[in-house]
Amino acid sequence: MKLKKKLLFSTILVFLCIFIINKRFAFSAQVFNSIGDGQSKVYVTGDIHGLLEVDRVLNIDFLGEDDYLIILGDFGLLWDGSLKESIALNKLNNKPFTTLFIDGNHENFNMLNSLPVESWNGGKVHRIRNKVLHLMRGEVFTINNKRYFTFGGGKSIDKERRIENISWWKEEIPSTEEMDNGIKNLEKCDYNVDYVLTHTTDVDNLYTIGDKLDFTPKEDELNLFLSKIKNKLTYNKWYFGHFHLDWQINQKDRAILEDIVQIGT
Ligand SMILES: [Zn+2]
Repeated sequence: MKLKKKLLFSTILVFLCIFIINKRFAFSAQVFNSIGDGQSKVYVTGDIHGLLEVDRVLNIDFLGEDDYLIILGDFGLLWDGSLKESIALNKLNNKPFTTLFIDGNHENFNMLNSLPVESWNGGKVHRIRNKVLHLMRGEVFTINNKRYFTFGGGKSIDKERRIENISWWKEEIPSTEEMDNGIKNLEKCDYNVDYVLTHTTDVDNLYTIGDKLDFTPKEDELNLFLSKIKNKLTYNKWYFGHFHLDWQINQKDRAILEDIVQIGT
């Protein structure tokens, strides 16, 4: 009789364990799904200039696993290939969110363009780390069912004080192929996107900023290209860096440096 009771007790114990384990797995799957189905948060910020201002991004504590932080050029963490840069990139990669960036004028384009090209969310990227991606020029990406047109690059006004292939790269100004790629991808979506992310801006904004900051602007081929596409483009918001200025120019266009802005605002 005693043996029968022991057997019964053991059987109940085994069934109880199986029940608890099943429940735990079911719970994990549910949490995973609910995170995956949720809308990601997307924030944008301006130039970080590599190690100089990377802490602005490393200090962000309000974005989670499914969220994105986009840097609007002068990312600068591919500059001299130093151990310090590598450590900073690893720290970025260890943040819960994914860091995306467009290129500015202060990037080492030899390093950037030597990376393999991958497809990601409808466009082309260079993957620097698992969760640190360069959004290439003239691409259209889809995040949260919203279209993002990206076009990096810009002219260095201090080019004369820089050394080619050490602190300045001619690829800062996009090639005809990159501009053609942008036009081809915009044609595919009938020039209709939700957000535009660039480093510099179009000619009109350039002159408006020149007035505000009291400098005499001189438009280059990239400003002219951006004006050309702006004339045809339907978009909700356009964010850009480069001018080291936080300023909402008008309802749609916003210059960003240190602000960390939720996309759409
Ligand atoms: Zn800058």
